[in-house]
Amino acid sequence: MNNDHFETNAIRTQLNRTEYQEHSVPMYLTSSFVFEDAEDMRSGFAEEKERNIYSRFTNPNTSEFVEKICKMEGAESGYAFATGMAAVFSTFAALLNSGDHIVSCRSVFGSTHGLFTRYLPKWNITTSYFKANEVHTLESLIRPETKILYAETPTNPGVDVLDLEALGAIAKKHNLILVIDNCFATPYLQQPIKFGADLVIHSATKLIDGQGRVLGGVTVGRADLIREIYLFARNTGPALSPFNAWVLSKSLETLAVRVDRHCENALKVAQFLEKHDAVNWVRHPFLPSHPQYEVAKKQMKHGGSIVAFEVKGGIAGGRRFLNSIQMCSLSANLGDTRTIVTHPASTTHSKLAEEDRLEVGITDGLVRVSVGLENVEDVLADLEQALQTAVKRAKVGSHTSESSDA
Ligand SMILES: *Cc1c(COP(=O)(O)O)cnc(C)c1O
Repeated sequence: MNNDHFETNAIRTQLNRTEYQEHSVPMYLTSSFVFEDAEDMRSGFAEEKERNIYSRFTNPNTSEFVEKICKMEGAESGYAFATGMAAVFSTFAALLNSGDHIVSCRSVFGSTHGLFTRYLPKWNITTSYFKANEVHTLESLIRPETKILYAETPTNPGVDVLDLEALGAIAKKHNLILVIDNCFATPYLQQPIKFGADLVIHSATKLIDGQGRVLGGVTVGRADLIREIYLFARNTGPALSPFNAWVLSKSLETLAVRVDRHCENALKVAQFLEKHDAVNWVRHPFLPSHPQYEVAKKQMKHGGSIVAFEVKGGIAGGRRFLNSIQMCSLSANLGDTRTIVTHPASTTHSKLAEEDRLEVGITDGLVRVSVGLENVEDVLADLEQALQTAVKRAKVGSHTSESSDA
């Protein structure tokens, strides 16, 4: 019997049952584990056999979660972290030495960019950037001391798509470690290891939990690299809590059905916005108008849950739109059951200089929608009324200012 399907693995990969024969996996809320005798303790610490010692190293719940992600991503090994950023930081810190260099896409998660610009330089680790739509230029950035090639796809919040096959080929040619943050796609839509990635990182906080409850992160991939990351984490303590691992492992059982519906709803939202008069342009990987549509079709199962669009009226237009939203949430998270709307230019990216913002595709009117699992008709109705109100208020606003000028 071939049970090696994504959904089946997500549900049937589980720890051995205890004497109680539980159907659903129990929670192992324990900081440490006991040894039989001195020899058991010695061999455990010598890593002569696989066993749990202390939950900063491993715990049954975190191991189950990691094993599921490894199967989904086609990875040899992995380690789970308290947050996505702990996974990102630990991956770089474990693998790089002073003097090493990173080549990264410029469009990366804000805190990852902060790590590159503010913290890694303290240890003399520097980063050069290529633009999301200029993968062909990145080879010119590679130096003898370059160790890691880093990217996210689709990107946040501009929803650019990077060609994983091209990145894999460049990494191989120059003997670089290719690290992909696969958070926006999830392992259900895209498995970067197939295209040559050595490591894959997830913020499990987003679609993997999918219900806005817990933080978590994970790095999976080549066993030799994961070994270094594990030893770093074992010494420095960014481990995922067993409770959060239990929540996330249960969440994976429904990942495929949730992400299917997220993507179906997101495509409907994107198609609706593309026809709307109050909208300048829309980005979603599975809209034929997306510049990397062919690449997206090649490497992704569906187009993902995030839609970016530009509402007319610049910064003021974006703010008016947000102020008119009634049902959807204004929140910093994404990948939740609830549809979330954000306006990066006036919030998450407001501290960037305008030209830096534009370089990563964040125009003044850019709105990011993380499309949720509500009935899509209700999401469309909320967006429609907010767009209409934003346009109406713009007209009233310009009329008032004209009359006051006069
Ligand atoms: C949220 C996010 C992270 C960071 O994850 P946390 O769990 O919030 O620490 C990293 N990368 C991407 C693409 C994200 O969206």
